Amino acid sequence: MSENRAYFDNNATTPIHPDALQVMYNVANNVHGNPSSSYAIGKDSRNVVENCRQVIAEKLHCFPSQIIFNSGASEGNNTVLKSILENNYSSRKEIVTSPVEHSSVRETMTFLRDHHGVRWRTCDVDKYGFFTFEDVSKATTRKTGIISLIYGNNELGTLMRDDDLRKIVQMCRSNRIHLHLDLTQCVGKIPINLTELGCDSAVISGHKFYAPKGIGALYIRDPSLSPVVPLVHGGVQEGGLRAGTENVVHVAAMATALEATLSTMDKDIARMKMLRDNCYNILKNNLGDRLRLFTHPEHNLPNTLSISIDGIDSRALLPVLDNHGYQLNVGSACSKGKRSATLMAIGATESQEKGALRISLGTGNTSHEVVGLCTILLSEI
Ligand code: PMP
Repeated sequence: MSENRAYFDNNATTPIHPDALQVMYNVANNVHGNPSSSYAIGKDSRNVVENCRQVIAEKLHCFPSQIIFNSGASEGNNTVLKSILENNYSSRKEIVTSPVEHSSVRETMTFLRDHHGVRWRTCDVDKYGFFTFEDVSKATTRKTGIISLIYGNNELGTLMRDDDLRKIVQMCRSNRIHLHLDLTQCVGKIPINLTELGCDSAVISGHKFYAPKGIGALYIRDPSLSPVVPLVHGGVQEGGLRAGTENVVHVAAMATALEATLSTMDKDIARMKMLRDNCYNILKNNLGDRLRLFTHPEHNLPNTLSISIDGIDSRALLPVLDNHGYQLNVGSACSKGKRSATLMAIGATESQEKGALRISLGTGNTSHEVVGLCTILLSEI
């Protein structure tokens, strides 16, 4: 077992930023009131939550009232998609998604289809999981109530194009279709301006940008008009859209992690991209046609390299790499054990899927680690 640990699975989760850890300790130590209580220590907690809402809104370019704190992107995706069951959508119980969505969208859609008769349409994608306005528009009908799209793909690293999004927003606005975006993989990897994106709702998740796990936010463009209904009923927290006492410590950590991540983002993106491209070039130069690229060569998250190596069994290889101290994944950490719906949707054969590897970099990776990973990988296959 190697003493060194090089972590290449940052799309699965990221370590907590030291500034966020410090804030967690300070808040947990000093602010213990319930934010809904009216006495002083309750107000202290409320102030923490509202200040953080303001920071997050400012950093993501929206209003604080548009940010609903929750447990993460799975919850946010469930909340928005399950709203299709409400009367607002009675004549438009149809949802369009891409076929390369995260399991929190796919499994919710399977449930809505199988248990509630919701019609689920998926658009076409190319061999990188890339889809265009035309693909989405072709899948849309007069009965479509919600369109839900993954903006940056967790497994593939493929990214939507702004121009396609603009046209999708226009189509949704003119047809009163609710447009939901899964931005989970995007924060800290591409600039995010929620207002400019133009979607009706979106999800983010703290643990993808150096905050703790189990905290996230649902953005809702117009909470007063929004046809989004709560998934969790109870108290009137979060504007009545998400009951339950706010996770004050994790909310504070998420705001700090977001500030910290965005403060160095330009530099980090350039570095991750350089390391990622270097990794690809080393592997390509050594493996030639044995290497298939799943990540779109042009439209992609700068930290992600999703590939398949012909003739290898990546699930058998991963423990070997782990023993050398290199930690990476075959794809989504959430689809463990099953065939990947995403890889099937992009037409990967079973043997290509068997050879799939996802290298997802974070701010902490070094050139030395990348060269080390490639060397060990090439020597073990
Ligand atoms: N959507 C995408 C694209 C993701 O990558 C993930 C996490 N793997 C999720 C949703 C779910 O996020 P969470 O862990 O916050 O529930």
